[in-house]
Amino acid sequence: MKREMGIARCGLACCLCSENEHCHGCNSGECPGSTWCENRKCSMEKKIGHCYECDNKCEKGMLSKIKPYGFTLFVKRYGVDQLLDCLERNEENGIVYHREGIVGDYDDFDDVEKLIEFIKNGK
Ligand code: SF4
Ligand code: SF4
Repeated sequence: MKREMGIARCGLACCLCSENEHCHGCNSGECPGSTWCENRKCSMEKKIGHCYECDNKCEKGMLSKIKPYGFTLFVKRYGVDQLLDCLERNEENGIVYHREGIVGDYDDFDDVEKLIEFIKNGK
């Protein structure tokens, strides 16, 4: 895990992203979504660094997907350091962020509270 890369504007985990060898995050313009990402555009317009800093209840763009939505909600509740601590510990315990393409162990949820419990407990 490249902890220093942190979390993307939309809530995805740049620190664990399989693209992070050649992408240096949302602000680098190297993300494949940089031209169309609604969350990147909107958070830049609001002059905030991440959707988790926004007070709106929002499911725009990537926030319509459970993983970035759940990570964003987790940070709103517990803070970004807590999320990074959990992701780091879970990775050490074999939980895989990108197992096939961009899908991994945090994607197989339909209830955001269950995803948040999984982030916290690693099971
Ligand atoms: S591709 Fe997107 S999620 Fe992955 S490192 Fe780049 S900005 Fe972050
Ligand atoms: S309105 Fe939605 S997309 Fe825009 S910054 Fe807030 S959470 Fe992100």
